[in-house]
Amino acid sequence: MSHLSGLHPISRRALLGGFAASSALVVLHPFAARAANNQAHLRIMETTDIHVHVFPYDYYADKPNDTLGLARTASLIDGIRAEAGNSMLIDNGDFLQGNPLGDYVAYERGMKEGDKHPVISAMNVLGYDVGTMGNHEFNYGLDFLNKVLAGAGFPFVCANLTKGMLASDPKKDELMFKPYVIIEKRIRDGSGATSPIKVGFIGFVPPQIMTWDAKNLEGKAQTRDIVDAAKAWVPVMKEEGADIVIALSHSGIDGTGQSERMENASLYLAGVEGIDAIFTGHQHLVFPGPKDFDGIAGADAKKGTLMGKPAVMGGFWGSHMGLIDLLLEKDGSSWKIISSTSEARPIYHRDDNRKIVADVKDKPEVLAAAKADHDATLAYVRRAVGKTSAPLYSYFALVADDPSVQIVSNAQAWYIKQMLKDGEYKDLPVLSAAAPFKAGGRGGPDYFTDVAAGDIAIKNVADLYLYPNTVQAVLITGAQVKNWLEMSAGMFNQVKAGAKDAVLLNDGFPSYNYDVIDGVTYQIDLSQPVRFDKDGKLINQDANRIVDLSFDGKPIDPAQKFVVVTNNYRAGGGGKFPEIAGDKVIFVAPDTNRDVIVRYIVDQGTINPSADANWSFKPLADTTAVFESGPKGRQYAAAVKGAKIEDAGDGENGFAKFRLVL
Ligand code: MN
Ligand code: MG
Repeated sequence: MSHLSGLHPISRRALLGGFAASSALVVLHPFAARAANNQAHLRIMETTDIHVHVFPYDYYADKPNDTLGLARTASLIDGIRAEAGNSMLIDNGDFLQGNPLGDYVAYERGMKEGDKHPVISAMNVLGYDVGTMGNHEFNYGLDFLNKVLAGAGFPFVCANLTKGMLASDPKKDELMFKPYVIIEKRIRDGSGATSPIKVGFIGFVPPQIMTWDAKNLEGKAQTRDIVDAAKAWVPVMKEEGADIVIALSHSGIDGTGQSERMENASLYLAGVEGIDAIFTGHQHLVFPGPKDFDGIAGADAKKGTLMGKPAVMGGFWGSHMGLIDLLLEKDGSSWKIISSTSEARPIYHRDDNRKIVADVKDKPEVLAAAKADHDATLAYVRRAVGKTSAPLYSYFALVADDPSVQIVSNAQAWYIKQMLKDGEYKDLPVLSAAAPFKAGGRGGPDYFTDVAAGDIAIKNVADLYLYPNTVQAVLITGAQVKNWLEMSAGMFNQVKAGAKDAVLLNDGFPSYNYDVIDGVTYQIDLSQPVRFDKDGKLINQDANRIVDLSFDGKPIDPAQKFVVVTNNYRAGGGGKFPEIAGDKVIFVAPDTNRDVIVRYIVDQGTINPSADANWSFKPLADTTAVFESGPKGRQYAAAVKGAKIEDAGDGENGFAKFRLVL
């Protein structure tokens, strides 16, 4: 995607060797190739949202992964530098947290004064010019952060984070970091001569860190609106002689209109006078590029501009290198931008069979810088970090309340209560929705969660939560809670009372859409037809599979308001659950459900995942239904609470068959 050949077919020029040390064919950026005597090409490279991914390794799956890793992105750098007349390298934040390597250093190894953090050691190898703060930099507290940053061989900027209260004038804010730096360097022009330039970099963090990291920041910090801070500081940078001003915006692109303390403010930041180019991030998306940002007024996702200024978002976890290329022209003693391009260059692609193919190799120096902590992390993810007092398995997750779903629910509820504790929703009841991800089906008879009682390791969390979703919460009514569950109940075929060995599960309904909602109690009446079709359309007005739905021991009030914590997929309308969509979302967490489960286990030490049997099937006289599950489930069948399950022999393709006595 977005290679140079597509951007500049005419001025594309190749030369052998050139700036590169190797004799590989280097395609000069057209700006470098065509810069005249009074012109210079400046390329600025961005990494963003690295989240401690130095090695191309998925620690949860405990295996290599070609879609991520700074060691891969880094090996793009040499080639990219060779294509450019002059280059700089920046990081756009969220480097410190987000995988088990980060958790290992924070929770196990620790940071003493003078210690080096592995992600910083890796970054130091690459010669960054400057970095900014992402929201996740604050997850482990300010002390930890300060010790980490002390090891960096480059400065950090952030213009909208203060130490205390906000001043009446943003320029009087007592800031936690330098708001900006102006880097003086010499650049080579088209004639080969060098002359000085002052490149200003100013950084921004989402103001929401005051909520997301309240426990680390309350009373110690405050945040200011991104655009307000830019309007105050950019003119100061110009006064100090910055030839060009580059925004390092750890904030995404949201075209729904500017608002106060906006989380994804990069589009409106681009509108601030004096800013010449914008590096964005935080959303873990790719800009420019197909699909992610189509149809946003002011954003050109083909050209890579926001409000007409060059902008880029370099994916996440090292998946892409963000590039902004500027053709500068000398204007008296200063430089001005006369042309620009932007590009997000990937480290891998998918072949015709959608198989992932790595486009680059590891840069060995980067791996070496983090190797010791990487090895320690491998041991860490394989070692016990907590205990589970009951086995965690999903063999019967579709027929009874289940421990592997229960623990996800419990962790989500634990998390969201902390997040909402001081806000306007603090007095509302919290429900938690979670679905079994590993429940056989096409995954086969071994495709189930199965963690024995006793020690629980970090890598087991991947088993509990398969997808890198993030936590979100919605605000809905009791009536909408019931419809949510009615939709879930599409998991089952209708079973007539008196039927023998009816086929229970609806093959066309994915298990990840079988949400169990904790915090309420209910039964599912299988004798009823479904209320909604697979698109959430009401098809049986009089059908009610969900019966005896109660909250706090009393029938649920259809008008009562509830907070339901779930994931970004469901809250965003995934699965087409009736009325559940983005307009109901009241909380968008920066944290993955997986991270929340890890924190919950570390916090609790011993977890008690026994299902609370808050749902069951409504008894039907003389009725049985059959379903398939993994044969390893046989050992647990008799112990399942809230459902009577019998062994019914072997199923097909290695599955075991079970009978549910309704
Ligand atoms: Mn991020
Ligand atoms: Mg439960």
